[in-house]
Amino acid sequence: MPRRRANEGRVGIGWDAHPLAPGIPCRIGGVAIPCDEGPRGHSDGDPLLHALADALYGAIADGDLGTHFPDADAANAGRDSAEFVSAALGSVAARGLGVANVDAVVTAEKPRLGPHRDAIRGRIAGILGVPLDSVSVKAKSWQGLPAGAGSVLAQVVVLLAPRAGKNVRAAAVRTRGRVRDLTRLRQRRR
Ligand SMILES: [Zn+2]
Repeated sequence: MPRRRANEGRVGIGWDAHPLAPGIPCRIGGVAIPCDEGPRGHSDGDPLLHALADALYGAIADGDLGTHFPDADAANAGRDSAEFVSAALGSVAARGLGVANVDAVVTAEKPRLGPHRDAIRGRIAGILGVPLDSVSVKAKSWQGLPAGAGSVLAQVVVLLAPRAGKNVRAAAVRTRGRVRDLTRLRQRRR
């Protein structure tokens, strides 16, 4: 089978939708948003973080959120979705890749996300360990389309790039090892 080129980028797409229900905490993109309704789901129901995790797993062709964290597993009930994204990011990093940028669209009639957009970008950037300007979040409304009423839809595209830092860090570890060996050698000579 042909091997992946060392400098190859990877792209992933994620999509998720949850129905809004009254009395549920509203978490979108890992941010608590004041609203009398929230997206209902098995974990904390955060559609944006679910779409992001799916995009990360998709970019490395490693299944999806459901294959790694099944709904049927009671351990995932009420779970913080940031943990799913961190796990997916770990799989990405294990392949020598890192997130170059994320572009997301959230479509909802309610809550209005515009005022929370930068907080959501900051939270996602924090979870992924990337600069703020690597994360874009766009808020859309359903424009009165009945099909979307009462739901929050999230779409995410992510681009992965080889992590230059991985080789740099490996070289640093090798250098530190060499320095330690030299120090020991000198001490023995004394
Ligand atoms: Zn979901």
